[in-house]
Amino acid sequence: MNEIKIFSPATVANVACGFDVLGFCLDSVGDEMVVRKTNKKGIHITKIEGFNLPYETELNVAGVSALAMYKTLDVDFGFEIEIYKNIKPGSGIGSSAASAVGSVYGMNELLGKPFNKTQLTEFAIKGEALASKCEHADNLAPALFGGFTLVKSVSPLQILEIPSPDDLYATIIHPQIEIKTSESRAVLPKEVALSDAIEQWANLGSLVHALHTSDYNLISNSLKDVIVEPHRSQLIPQFNEVKKAVIEAGALGAGISGSGPSIFSLSKGLETAKKVKDAMQSVYLKTVIEFDIHVSKINIDGVKII
Ligand code: ADP
Repeated sequence: MNEIKIFSPATVANVACGFDVLGFCLDSVGDEMVVRKTNKKGIHITKIEGFNLPYETELNVAGVSALAMYKTLDVDFGFEIEIYKNIKPGSGIGSSAASAVGSVYGMNELLGKPFNKTQLTEFAIKGEALASKCEHADNLAPALFGGFTLVKSVSPLQILEIPSPDDLYATIIHPQIEIKTSESRAVLPKEVALSDAIEQWANLGSLVHALHTSDYNLISNSLKDVIVEPHRSQLIPQFNEVKKAVIEAGALGAGISGSGPSIFSLSKGLETAKKVKDAMQSVYLKTVIEFDIHVSKINIDGVKII
């Protein structure tokens, strides 16, 4: 096999109470990529469609993660990468992570799978660091492993796979506004009150338990973020209105996806997830802001060959 086409999914990081550690994988939105073995040595990005992104290997997250893997190989061939981008960069649903993951996953398949998923995450972290200026895996891990993942530690890298209840669906709205990563970092508090920390880790622990036991009521009760959301939500127009509307429509809960501006919501069942979509839409239709909405089952496979 000399060429492979893959689907590299969008992901939701943080999931309310799991800031910087928890994430889940989406099914209905993602990038496509082609990875090809070539006689020419090195890593070359030969095609990018969808959005304007750099072709220089060192300036594109897909290239940087691919190089991190390539440097460990002793081979007399190289790889070409084509990126068909559907996930808008900066939307908060892991656009950079999808590219970082796609290149190394594709190369690994063509090489006969010498690396496991944790090792692939290590390479992808180098690419992600180009986009976010720090090494983190909260979007990479769900994109590679699928389902819900918890990044127990980055150094050494330890990723836990958390089961996903069968009937769990996500609805995500992406308002077409720009929030600079520096801005969304700047609003975060440097210190947190012990009482808030206790509430947050109680919620994170109970959310993980609820996912293991398919306890939808407990999922709903645990989807609360008392540390980050009160600050970051101020940067997202209509955030509180969207949250109120989706709960009225039957959602289990909602929160900021990654560092925003996307807002995610979780629901039991596709019907409810679609009602949640209508509710989100009705809030944003009253504004002049353009938006996209996605409804997706939780993707338990992660990145895959198509
Ligand atoms: P997201 O949270 O949606 O991944 P980020 O802000 O983390 O968005 O990453 C987007 C940034 O990474 C943009 O500045 C973009 O130009 C840069 N970038 C470089 N290569 C890629 C790529 N292949 N895909 C997406 N973004 C990329």
